[in-house]
Amino acid sequence: MTTYKHPCDRCTGNKTIKSYSHVAGGVCFKCMGKGYVVSNKKTVNKRFEVTAIFKPDNTRCVIGYASATTADKAIALILQRKTQDNLSFYDLSTIKAL
Ligand SMILES: [Zn+2]
Repeated sequence: MTTYKHPCDRCTGNKTIKSYSHVAGGVCFKCMGKGYVVSNKKTVNKRFEVTAIFKPDNTRCVIGYASATTADKAIALILQRKTQDNLSFYDLSTIKAL
């Protein structure tokens, strides 16, 4: 069976998570501090932070987080999840997923 190494989506390959530094030195429990995960899938979900410009004060704000294989899919997930009402304050032409 072919396996593929993927950067760990929880620690983004950093092996540790700063906000958990009080627990076992912050070592990432998903990849057990290796910084990668092994999967038989060629593409795995990655955690994206989706941001857009918040119109009232013209700053880039986080709209939400989504796990997806690509940035475009993450954006689509966020747009599905949010109601039009929530999103009317954002300039959706500036939407980005990182
Ligand atoms: Zn990890």
